[in-house]
Amino acid sequence: MSAPMLLHDVVVGPRDLAAYEGVVPAAALADVRARAERLRGLHVLHLSATPYGGGVSELLRSSVPLLRALGIDAQWKVITGEPAFFEATKTIHNALQGAPDGLDDEQREGYLRTSERNAAALSDGWDIVVAHDPQTLAMRAFWPEADERWIWRCHIDTSSPNPDVWAFLRPYLEPFDAAVFTMQEFAPPDLPVADLHLIPPAIDPLNPKNLRLPDTTARQVLAWIGIDLGQPLMTQVSRFDPWKDPFGVLEAYRLVREEVPGLQLAMVGSMALDDPQAWDLHRRLQEESAKDPRIRVFTNLTGVGNIEVNAFQRLSDVIVQKSIREGFGLVVSEAMWKGTPVVAGRAGGIPMQVGEGPGAGGVLVDGVEPTARAVTELLLDPDRAERLGARGRRRVRARFLLPRLISDWLDVFDTMVAARAPVGDAAAGEP
Ligand code: UDP
Repeated sequence: MSAPMLLHDVVVGPRDLAAYEGVVPAAALADVRARAERLRGLHVLHLSATPYGGGVSELLRSSVPLLRALGIDAQWKVITGEPAFFEATKTIHNALQGAPDGLDDEQREGYLRTSERNAAALSDGWDIVVAHDPQTLAMRAFWPEADERWIWRCHIDTSSPNPDVWAFLRPYLEPFDAAVFTMQEFAPPDLPVADLHLIPPAIDPLNPKNLRLPDTTARQVLAWIGIDLGQPLMTQVSRFDPWKDPFGVLEAYRLVREEVPGLQLAMVGSMALDDPQAWDLHRRLQEESAKDPRIRVFTNLTGVGNIEVNAFQRLSDVIVQKSIREGFGLVVSEAMWKGTPVVAGRAGGIPMQVGEGPGAGGVLVDGVEPTARAVTELLLDPDRAERLGARGRRRVRARFLLPRLISDWLDVFDTMVAARAPVGDAAAGEP
């Protein structure tokens, strides 16, 4: 029997930089082109846990092709592991966001053995390896000292991690050359990596879920799956994850419905390979939906993909993102980009995304009742909702579109290879 394949290449479509012209600010495109010039031919490997489902895969699906279009030899590989490994990494994910549950000895051992096996399957010759999130973190420790520069990219809010789990992981971070967080506040105070960079994520306006979708098409898409377009619609698009507080959304919906009787609630979620917890939440939400036909639960497994998400984010009267912890909610920026009013939990990176004060592009809330109040107010005042949506779109255009994210990454790569001999193969990756 042949050995199991441990690292899978993720195939992504080609991207043409010119396609962003007229969509993103011209200065952002000029900036990214200029920064890439010095780094052409750089070999960069991104390592992550799943090719679909969740923000990291969304980011890589867009970033890798754009890096290639800029002449960087970027590759993306996903690790493999047994279900027990992903149970353990989900526990680690939750614990790093502050949950009390930890790992037993068997889970620690299993996490390390799987990391070691994946590391052993890695080829060499990279200039930079970017390990995303805790699932790929320990691989670095099982990789020999070599010329590669390793970066840990942490997408979650690790500002107050569960101390036991953090103490277990911390030594595996020591050999990293740099770490990238979304915000300074997310970095644990005793992070053992001195070279810390801050990069907020961004959305790709050319992703089918963000493309301009004609109104009639969007309406047909939602009508097809049974949304009543004659009645108001509030939607949360999220993995089914306790930190996204799906049951808080349900409670808020029930309060809003007292004021807006025809209201529908759509809970749209994707199931990722590395997220075993989602199934239980999905089942419980379906039980609620069985009791109230105006609550609808949709997933990628029943055909709700990018286009449907696009239509939901475009046509919902309000998009809710009631997160309790959130590194950066791509869904928040995706909805704002479509000019749809957003009500979002004041958690992690969300205030930075939405903004505060008179220029804010959404409403920040804490708790169920404020969520319900904010949603009700927007449903009852469509003019205000429209103004808010327009501000949201402008804010995303200025700060949270892909070329800005790529510029930030190129900056980090630049600082990391600056101390070394000229990089890569200058002939590679000719755009
Ligand atoms: N998403 C999707 N289908 C769904 C639910 C989510 O395509 O049913 C996408 C969503 O549009 C976003 C990503 O998954 O691009 C979720 O990223 P986010 O940063 O909001 O949350 P994460 O899952 O990374 O915690």
